[in-house]
Amino acid sequence: MADLQKEFNDYTKNLNKASKDENIKKAITRAVKSYRETTAETLNRFPHTPEMAEEVRGIKSNSIAHNSELLKQAMDSVERNKGKAFYAKDKQEALEMTAKIIGTGKTIVKGKSMLGEELSLREYLEEKGNEVWETDLGEFILQLNHEKPMHILSPSIHVPREKVAELFTKFFNKEVPPDIAQEVAVVRDFLREKYFTADVGISGANVVAADTGAMVIIENEGNVRLSTGAPPVHIVLVGIEKIVPTFQEAMKVTEVTWRYAQYGVPGYVNIISGPSKTGDIEKVTTYGAHGPKEFYVIFVDNGRSDMAKEEEFSEALHCLRCGGCMYECPVFQVTAGHFGHVYMSGIGAVWTAFVAGGLEKAAPLVFTCLRCGRCVERCPMKINVPSMIQKLRERVVCG
Ligand code: SF4
Repeated sequence: MADLQKEFNDYTKNLNKASKDENIKKAITRAVKSYRETTAETLNRFPHTPEMAEEVRGIKSNSIAHNSELLKQAMDSVERNKGKAFYAKDKQEALEMTAKIIGTGKTIVKGKSMLGEELSLREYLEEKGNEVWETDLGEFILQLNHEKPMHILSPSIHVPREKVAELFTKFFNKEVPPDIAQEVAVVRDFLREKYFTADVGISGANVVAADTGAMVIIENEGNVRLSTGAPPVHIVLVGIEKIVPTFQEAMKVTEVTWRYAQYGVPGYVNIISGPSKTGDIEKVTTYGAHGPKEFYVIFVDNGRSDMAKEEEFSEALHCLRCGGCMYECPVFQVTAGHFGHVYMSGIGAVWTAFVAGGLEKAAPLVFTCLRCGRCVERCPMKINVPSMIQKLRERVVCG
């Protein structure tokens, strides 16, 4: 870890700057208040949720313990559904597999995915000569502003409407006022044309059911429906830790995820298991009806199996990416995603260490975490982040 000193210096400079940023302060203060109020109200409305979260902890733990069998089963299920399933052992393999399917000179519409960030997927596909559009509004804003996400669910949480208006006015080459409804409308109009002319749609998945090969994707904007439904080709890139044994279990994981992600019920829950099909003429199943004709799933490892093998860290794979812990983290509350490297806050430090840059990139993060345990209280999976942070500190210091 020769460059550790430099990592610390660059990171500290950036973190100090972020902590003085008025936009971050304003945006996160509002977001924390809204998250706490909405989640309290939602859990009150659906009081079975904490008990279901307890059950989901068991499902995730069992799934991680049997991950290799479930991966095989999930891949077989995808193939049975007339999709094509692949296993990518690392980032490079995942990127090359995706590029091989897509080729060059294509238009791609992409849904929000932290795995996509982990792989730098958009940048890679652009380098290969493709036009790639982020379709989640927050990600679209970041794409135009050449920035990285500041929260795993609300990537542009730190960008106020005035800044969005400036950005859009410049990009669309027409006056866009700092009015959120008008800002949303202008992106809606722009992306609509892209969905129906795109060659490929790319998405992640929140959960995968091994028994059926069903990919479950939670969203509110409707962009995932269009990205995965309109283009002739759909590619799913998903981490192997997202696989659970059965469809019923996948539904439980899905409900707990959205509930702790601040939604009573999300706008849409997409369940996709293969290319579109019809049996309307003589009951002959024919693939390639109104939706995609081709369906590919790339299951990505990239360090997850190594994490699963380590008793002290495997629990981090239970993370549902609900984002709740970030709102409770005292460091995140003043710095947003600057307390992170791809993945954010305490849990992000653990993920960074294993899948997104290694111990060198994670080192400054593990010494930023206060180990206060507020994340554990909020976390539906009760992941013991402070204990993992302590273990990572020992590794940084003692090797
Ligand atoms: S660590 Fe827990 S609270 Fe944080 S994103 Fe993961 S599941 Fe949600």
